[in-house]
Amino acid sequence: MSQVQENALHAQRSPLLALAPDVAERIAAGEVIERPVSVIKELVENALDAGAKEIRVEIRGGGLRLMRVTDDGYGIPEGELERASLRHTTSKIRLVEDLSHLYTLGFRGEALASIAAVSETMLLSRAIETDGLGEDHAALSITVRGGEITQRGRRARLHGTTVTVRDLFYNVPARLKFMRGARTENGHVLQLLQRYAIGYPAVRFNLIVDEHTALQTSGSGDLTVTLAELYGLPLNEMLYPVHTGDGLHYTLHGFIGNRVLAQGNRQYELLFVNGRWVQSRPLYDAFENGYRGLLAKGKHPLLVLFLNVPADEIDVNVHPAKTEVRLEYEDTVIAALTQAVRTVLEQSPALPEAIQFPGPVLANQRRLPGPRRRGLRVSESAEGYKAETAVPGTTEVIESLHPLAQLQQAVILAEAPDGSLYLVDQHRAHERVIYEHLRRVYAGGKGQEESVEAHLLLEPAIVEMKRYQADLLEQRLPMLRGLGLECERFGGRSFLVRSVPSSENGGGQEQLVAHLQELAETAAEDSNDWEDHLLISLSCRSAMRRGRPLGSGEQLALLKALAGASAPAVCPHGSPILLHYSRAFLIGKFDW
Ligand code: ADP
Ligand code: MG
Repeated sequence: MSQVQENALHAQRSPLLALAPDVAERIAAGEVIERPVSVIKELVENALDAGAKEIRVEIRGGGLRLMRVTDDGYGIPEGELERASLRHTTSKIRLVEDLSHLYTLGFRGEALASIAAVSETMLLSRAIETDGLGEDHAALSITVRGGEITQRGRRARLHGTTVTVRDLFYNVPARLKFMRGARTENGHVLQLLQRYAIGYPAVRFNLIVDEHTALQTSGSGDLTVTLAELYGLPLNEMLYPVHTGDGLHYTLHGFIGNRVLAQGNRQYELLFVNGRWVQSRPLYDAFENGYRGLLAKGKHPLLVLFLNVPADEIDVNVHPAKTEVRLEYEDTVIAALTQAVRTVLEQSPALPEAIQFPGPVLANQRRLPGPRRRGLRVSESAEGYKAETAVPGTTEVIESLHPLAQLQQAVILAEAPDGSLYLVDQHRAHERVIYEHLRRVYAGGKGQEESVEAHLLLEPAIVEMKRYQADLLEQRLPMLRGLGLECERFGGRSFLVRSVPSSENGGGQEQLVAHLQELAETAAEDSNDWEDHLLISLSCRSAMRRGRPLGSGEQLALLKALAGASAPAVCPHGSPILLHYSRAFLIGKFDW
């Protein structure tokens, strides 16, 4: 748990005071409330900072008519309530240095003031310490319209705070004009609440849109329960836990969904840094580097990760919405994020049957006025998935496979000791094995135990390059030699190829010869990824094709080789190598 989340559980309150002008100046962001969801974000964060265990959000008319956030947090004492709506007034920090031990989401003291300036805002609060004073001790309320206090009142309530915002932007017609329909705004709020519910599984969240429940979580504290509540799927079997850290600069925990849960957009990649949902580009790029090549193009994993770093090694004061952070040990963290994603996806096999699930599923979602929700796509029902492959076992499973037959001279059918069936694409399996071999040799350079044997061509082949390619290719000739590709420049733009990497599977080098032009062009690619692209092309072009009959000895040898691969489930292009029909799947389908 991050210290921010910890704080949310045992929130300690300090008095609400105006920041000294020089402090305000250095942290001010000139908070802009852009749309209803920005209001909800600030109010929910205030509730979390106040240690709320239950947060109820209500919106009407896309939030323009009414937004109300009610919490059971520590509340605001009567004497300080008016101050809460003033600019640069906060109970969370005093000095700029306080940012280096910040355990709250808010700190600038601007949000309530900005909201109250563009709406009619009512604050109703009862501080926790006044709770003992008896039932009749009512809570104080103030109403601020366009920044001016228009009303004071008293109402009974338990400790906690209710902020009601009406008529948002009534005095900013220009902003009103840019508002999209209520559906769009509702959708943004729903997505936001989903994120907080995931970030704070121990808090009960409730979202009511135009009097219909749109989201509800139990606050169980168990993230997998929250995910099931939000997406309507028991996902546990498909989520792999992550728990890592260097004991110094970071800890990382959470869940990464297996390949079956991969989605067509990035919306399900959630990263919380010290309890704060962040969007920092480099951190999401780190994920992408982890799954690139392991998932088909356009697919993104479902993941929820909590990164915790010491408060003095993070700067959260870099973006008005605080969704970007700067980390002192960013490189270390980036490497850890990439590794975490890679480790899970390298081992996760594909499953038969694509089924579209209608997540997030809610009891009365049909009546919910909101955007059309796109579902989570999963390629097998959670039921069928039960008791299926656990990540750490993939290698052992492949090692223990017993080949039964070959299908269409393309696919090895194999039985696992637990009686489940694996289909193994022979071309992709072989491609994966060759690719890893080439990569090891290439990365290791000279003096490696493994090496690529060059197969001398009886008759050198000639390839013709474009001018800009020819120069690049020439520079790279020594590197190609290390891969068994012996080439030399031969006048202007022509090159002579004297050898290709030999492969134990005989046919490999003949296949390669037919693709020399393409390989040379890849080797001359003007991109940082040319080396990997070349290794992929080489392995693809020399791997055994589909249509080649394999005896049972060859089938077994290929499976054994695949078991030795670090990413046995996906080919270097990111397509699946393995299809798994689990026992549970067979039992379910046959109704045994
Ligand atoms: P910030 O969160 O940056 O301090 P805000 O303008 O959001 O600034 O809130 C001002 C102050 O009002 C907070 O520092 C806090 O003391 C008080 N406050 C706001 N909302 C709540 C709430 N839901 N529960 C308790 N205190 C609150
Ligand atoms: Mg705040």
